[in-house]
Amino acid sequence: MTIPSLDRLTSLLARVHDLNMAANVLEWDQETYMPEAAAEARAHQIATLRQLAHECFVSDEIGALLDALDREHADADPDHPDVRLLRVTRRDYDQATRLPARLVADLARAVALGKEAWKTARDTDTFATFEPALQRLVDLNLEKAEALGYADTRYDALLDQYEPGLDTATVRQVFDALRAALVPIVRAIAGQPPPDDRCLHRYYPQDRQWDFGMAVLRDIGFDFTRGRQDLSAHPFTTAFDISDVRLTTRVNERYFPSAFFGSLHEAGHGLYEQGIDPALARTPLADGASLGMHESQSRLWENLIGRSRAFWEHYYAPLQRLFPEALSDVSLDTFYRAINRVEPSLIRVEADEVTYNLHIMLRFELELALIEGSVAPADLPALWNAKMEDYLGLTPDTDANGVLQDVHWSLGAFGYFPTYALGNLLSAQLYDRLDADLGGVEPLVAAGDFAPILAWLREHVHRFGRSRSAQELMVAATGSGLQAGNWLAYVRRKYEALYDGLSL
Ligand code: ZN
Repeated sequence: MTIPSLDRLTSLLARVHDLNMAANVLEWDQETYMPEAAAEARAHQIATLRQLAHECFVSDEIGALLDALDREHADADPDHPDVRLLRVTRRDYDQATRLPARLVADLARAVALGKEAWKTARDTDTFATFEPALQRLVDLNLEKAEALGYADTRYDALLDQYEPGLDTATVRQVFDALRAALVPIVRAIAGQPPPDDRCLHRYYPQDRQWDFGMAVLRDIGFDFTRGRQDLSAHPFTTAFDISDVRLTTRVNERYFPSAFFGSLHEAGHGLYEQGIDPALARTPLADGASLGMHESQSRLWENLIGRSRAFWEHYYAPLQRLFPEALSDVSLDTFYRAINRVEPSLIRVEADEVTYNLHIMLRFELELALIEGSVAPADLPALWNAKMEDYLGLTPDTDANGVLQDVHWSLGAFGYFPTYALGNLLSAQLYDRLDADLGGVEPLVAAGDFAPILAWLREHVHRFGRSRSAQELMVAATGSGLQAGNWLAYVRRKYEALYDGLSL
């Protein structure tokens, strides 16, 4: 019999990691450079690599090693790096092995059918076309929750896939506080004359937008010797290693914010990936702590820094020089107000930073009710529209612009939506601590001195990868767990200053 060895486990885990990262390369290429005709072949190649990675990971040998090593480390210091690695690996292993093969296959089929049904339903604006597929996905997710296990409610098991350790009760409580404060704030802002944002819709040539974005990414510390940016239809970030992080953006020559803030957002994700301790490379710990924590990094750079007045005090003059036709007659103040225009709207992905969280809460409430069984898929369109009216004062003209707008449910991804709003809340919590620790973030931003900000994020968040949970990181960095107060204070401060005489 061989002695259970951590070295043997880490070498097996490195192999799993390599296979998954190779699949990531193929997926990245699919979205950036792959010729159209290769789609089918590529789907096979990716599926083969993912399947190999899965088989490698759920092998009996890894199971036996984990059992033996868990026993061996039962009394070890829970903060020891080996123990943290074992804990996260055990978690992944349980998630990967608890679902029966029959359920995995049923889910894959239901997702394939769900995606098709959703596309048809959206294109023809007929929710009924999607309803049976959605019911099937809900039923299978209930089975999945049972198989994964949960403490309190089935939704806990689904949420835990994306936000390890966070429970439904906490999210509900934080969102309740957020909604109660935010609905009147949105109503008050919507009652103000909207800022003039016509300057953003002028002509901004693609090559100059690209150059400006690249220069800013370099300034904030994205390391182009360990990453790249390319174009894709939908912006995303992926990593093949801590030394190879890929960002994508898309350029709209008639709407400046699209590429620029998209790039800053993805660079926030990318800085996180580049900041993970190299000692964690090729292990399950070489990733962000949770989707919410990842989103906190993208939102911090995109909104709290990128849409701040201080940021444009530094960058507006160069931007004007680069786009004289569009901006020579536009003041910094007009530009600043334009990029911070708040307006209730129907579509989540186009929502501004203030109304965005209401779009998320609405989805969270509905999917939680679906999983708890208090709402049936057939009830969704009417409930969706009623909540849109309550929260944002709008009623969708069609289901395509309402309940059918997002792909997530058709993919069977329940528990994913809250992470977007969690990212916003966490970003403000981190920002406040960063601000206190650095003696003011704004003067640094206004001087274009981003290095201390990135160093703080590296020290308190990035380097740990998945070795600490989002909650652990937050408590250690800021002294408190998830809460809505910091983000609400940020919104009040910023938008009271933006609108004369507005009191939020
Ligand atoms: Zn993001």
